[in-house]
Amino acid sequence: MGTDSDKKKLFIGGEWKEGNDHYNLLSPYSGKVIAQVPLAEKDAVLTAIDCAERGAKEMRKLTALERSTILERAAALFQERLEECAFILTQENAKPLKAARGEILRTIETYKFAAEEAKRIHGETIPMDAAKNGKGRFAYTKREPLGVIAAITPFNFPFNLAAHKLGPAFAAGNAVILKPASQTPLSAIMAAQIFEEAGLPKGALNVVTGKGSVIGDVLVTDPRIKMVTFTGSVEVGLGIKEKAGLKKVTLELGSNSAVIIDSVDDLDAVAARCVEGSFAYSGQVCISIQRIYVQEDLHEAFLQKFAEKAKELTFGNPESEDTDLSALIHINEAKRVEGWIEAARAAGTEIVLGGTRTGAVLHPTIIKNAKPAEALSCQEAFAPIVSVNAYKTWDDAIDLVNDSLYGLQAGVYTTSMPKAFDAVDRLEVGGVIVNDIPSFRVDQMPYGGVKNSGTGREGVKYSVEEMTELKLAVFTL
Ligand code: NAD
Repeated sequence: MGTDSDKKKLFIGGEWKEGNDHYNLLSPYSGKVIAQVPLAEKDAVLTAIDCAERGAKEMRKLTALERSTILERAAALFQERLEECAFILTQENAKPLKAARGEILRTIETYKFAAEEAKRIHGETIPMDAAKNGKGRFAYTKREPLGVIAAITPFNFPFNLAAHKLGPAFAAGNAVILKPASQTPLSAIMAAQIFEEAGLPKGALNVVTGKGSVIGDVLVTDPRIKMVTFTGSVEVGLGIKEKAGLKKVTLELGSNSAVIIDSVDDLDAVAARCVEGSFAYSGQVCISIQRIYVQEDLHEAFLQKFAEKAKELTFGNPESEDTDLSALIHINEAKRVEGWIEAARAAGTEIVLGGTRTGAVLHPTIIKNAKPAEALSCQEAFAPIVSVNAYKTWDDAIDLVNDSLYGLQAGVYTTSMPKAFDAVDRLEVGGVIVNDIPSFRVDQMPYGGVKNSGTGREGVKYSVEEMTELKLAVFTL
């Protein structure tokens, strides 16, 4: 058995409540039942919203220092339970242990950034006398919490992506209803235990587990929810945006991220870094490298080094210290991408490495010069598969990266400063990473996309802006 075979509970209004109905949570790797998780129904979600409204009132009474201290305590508790939390990830989303520890370390950092941010949320004074009619007025702005925020999170980074919503929401004095992905409820339950212990007011955090469509619909349409912060697929994100009415909505969606390799000093180092960016957590990362565009003179040499390095990756049990890649979140995901590989092979595209699978574990796969119409070139793979394509001119490279429905982050390796600035100007993405992979992220930087990759930005300070309302006060002197 895994982490806990007990029946899990809902966390509503600061209390642990039995669910009426449950589902079996299965390990994606072993297929074994690891927990029984409540399937929250509409009534439970409505109760959670009632409690969150009360929680929001309690949060408003806290000082900035008190909110910051709770977040600091939560960060310290995650640190104490690092191994336990990492083990949860190996069970619920088959994240290999090394990567799982990495996610918890980032989660701790995100909560620490939120603890700091809580202390510097402020407005500004407005130079009213700059307008003719402003003479004799004094004005300032302040940032006020929104109230109750619904946070809907995906399966791939369940601790840290929840931290990107809970941390800034609490820093700003909001209450949250967290709906984790059905496959990753245990991390959300652990976060609730930690915040309970850290002294968060009752009702300020509520965790409702179960079906996205059932819970999501209640949260997205209830007028007492002031904002929906969503990370997940384009399809679900679009549905939320359509139903949310006038609520604030931020959407952190998918991508098929690309990197340009124009000119480099150390091709070995770049190849090794691209292996990390393409295959970490089996490519189930929203900024995983899916498309590599290499200047044609470097293409063969890069491809050879890249494939050699990728061959060293190990795959298997996520609990093992040595494992680099494990099961995809569901065997159907592995089969879906296997279908893409078969179609590419049938169309005469060269599979340089991999293309095979063991159960739900898809082996690292490299495709040479994928055709523009192939699924790998246009859709989001969310799997350990990448194409390495040759390009002729710099303009071609920019066009190829931009030829995507998505635009989250892009990487550019070049020794030319003018080209680096040109890439920043011309690439249609939320972030350009110069001389590194698009998968680079630290948790305080603004993060989000254009096109189908979403709207709004995360990164603690930027989320605080999204999660507060600017209020103006004008004094007549
Ligand atoms: P998903 O869209 O299937 O699920 C995300 C969440 O939405 C889950 O909690 C799910 O239960 C919930 N949900 C499902 N139906 C819903 C509905 N009708 N209303 C409201 N909520 C509903 O995504 P996933 O498979 O968990 O995650 C993978 C996707 O997330 C990929 O596309 C990936 O690129 C994206 N992602 C984006 C970022 C980013 O920051 N841009 C980060 C991580 C993952």
